[in-house]
Amino acid sequence: MARTKVKWISHAGFQITSGTGKVIYIDPWFDNPLAAMKLDEVKQATLILVTHDHFDHVGQATEIVQKTGGLLVANVETARRLQSDAKIPPEKVCYFGYGMNIGGNLVYEGISVTMTQAFHSTATGAPCGYIIRLEDGTTFYHAGDTGIFESMKTLGELYPIDVAMLPIGSVFTMDPVQAARATKMISPKKVIPMHFKTFPILVQDPSDFIELTRKEAPNVEVIKLNPGEEYTYSK
Ligand SMILES: [Zn+2]
Repeated sequence: MARTKVKWISHAGFQITSGTGKVIYIDPWFDNPLAAMKLDEVKQATLILVTHDHFDHVGQATEIVQKTGGLLVANVETARRLQSDAKIPPEKVCYFGYGMNIGGNLVYEGISVTMTQAFHSTATGAPCGYIIRLEDGTTFYHAGDTGIFESMKTLGELYPIDVAMLPIGSVFTMDPVQAARATKMISPKKVIPMHFKTFPILVQDPSDFIELTRKEAPNVEVIKLNPGEEYTYSK
């Protein structure tokens, strides 16, 4: 049985470890009071994905690239800015330094990454989400920072999702009402709520989301993690 580990760093930050031991970071921001992991605990990384250029998402992504030699994945303009600001060699940014854009796919060391749309803002490029398919077929959808959009349903149909990570915190992203409906549209096997509690203005706990998802998508199990907690998914 294929076993994949997902650790919630806090906020939108996750560490995914595939069955073969490859490590993927998404929006790794360790400099916040809730973060239950620090940069010096990062030992290896195959891929480092950034959804948009806000500080709470770029986090320590470029430091991880420099430390591990992993490949940075980001939107074209964001990739270019991160690469030049941190003086990362172009070959350590996906597509030889170009980055990628919404709808695009990258296969790297057996892991498939598809960039998806997200409705949000960013200083460079466009905000995005990611669909990540591991070597054993286990598929994740990290929505990035976004409001709800109808084509989440199409994404769920095109790429059957095992585990979705969805923002529920409101103010900057979907609130629990939208996130519960999004869960229904995506129809993953499991959903992990994220992007809440980090700031006092955000939704502080996932209880409303859990209750609403029970009504909207009763077949989907909500995996409620605390920062630093790791969930093992068996396909
Ligand atoms: Zn954010």
